[in-house]
Amino acid sequence: MKYFVVNRGDEVSQQLNERFHVLAKEYGMVLDEREPDTVLSIGGDGTMLQAFHRYKDQLDRLSFVGLHTGRLGFFADWFPEDLDYLAQVMGSETSPATIVEYPLVEIQIRTQEGTETHVALNEFTLKGVEETMVAQLNLNDETFEMFRGDGICISTPSGSTAYNKSLGGALVHPSIESIQIAEIASINNRVFRTLGSSMILPKHHHCDIFPQANKHLLLTLDHLNVQRNDVVSIRCSVATQKVRFARYRPYPFWNRVQKSFIGLDMK
Ligand code: NAP
Ligand code: MN
Repeated sequence: MKYFVVNRGDEVSQQLNERFHVLAKEYGMVLDEREPDTVLSIGGDGTMLQAFHRYKDQLDRLSFVGLHTGRLGFFADWFPEDLDYLAQVMGSETSPATIVEYPLVEIQIRTQEGTETHVALNEFTLKGVEETMVAQLNLNDETFEMFRGDGICISTPSGSTAYNKSLGGALVHPSIESIQIAEIASINNRVFRTLGSSMILPKHHHCDIFPQANKHLLLTLDHLNVQRNDVVSIRCSVATQKVRFARYRPYPFWNRVQKSFIGLDMK
């Protein structure tokens, strides 16, 4: 088993990282930064997002595991005190991990020069920079609405608990292959009209966003962001690729939601 560790860089995560290397050797694992089978993220959700983007060209062959040292850690199954056990089960050849696959968002950015494709684990957002964003939204090649407001957020099911949740979007179980379109502060009055609710699109549907030409836009993919003014349109859909998480014990999505947002000790 070839592994690599991405950690948040704080002292606790660094120490756990060092300790994991020692344990990994004991349990017969090999450190391989270039082509690991499993990537362990030690930190928070932000760390998992970094690990994902670092290895997004190898999604078909590797899987991720999260160990939580941060604040929320929605993507993490393990705690610091589990480190020894985790190394043992990761190294074990007799009890292989269960691999779960979660859907991703794919965006295709069209410019005069051509088309680029990107994937996100949490979400893609598009926002205006100098002014409110004005953009036409098409669903499956039919005009849907003219959007005016701060922006639009397109999230994955596993990202539905992140930015999308703050926007009033629904939490979506990751077995539902879908993307969610949520509005960021849309303007609604006598002149401008948007749906006002978030929408969940199934696989094989797509949404095209046509922003006003030559306006500065802020594009974000998870924790990454870039400003551009050359976007002609952006197509959003469920990606053909998926992200794989290695599970060595069950941790159902709704338990994760309960633990992250409500807390275990309910009276
Ligand atoms: P950050 O500012 O540290 O992240 C904001 C919070 O979102 C952190 O508490 C993070 O958890 C949590 N988070 C990330 N992914 C999550 C998920 N799938 N489910 C539940 N919570 C999640 O920045 P970051 O750590 O680099 O994360 C980038 C993400 O921040 C973006 O993908 C976006 O979803 C989110 N964000 C949220 C808002 C908002 O809610 N208003 C605005 C901008 C961005 P950890 O503490 O464990 O890292
Ligand atoms: Mn963070």
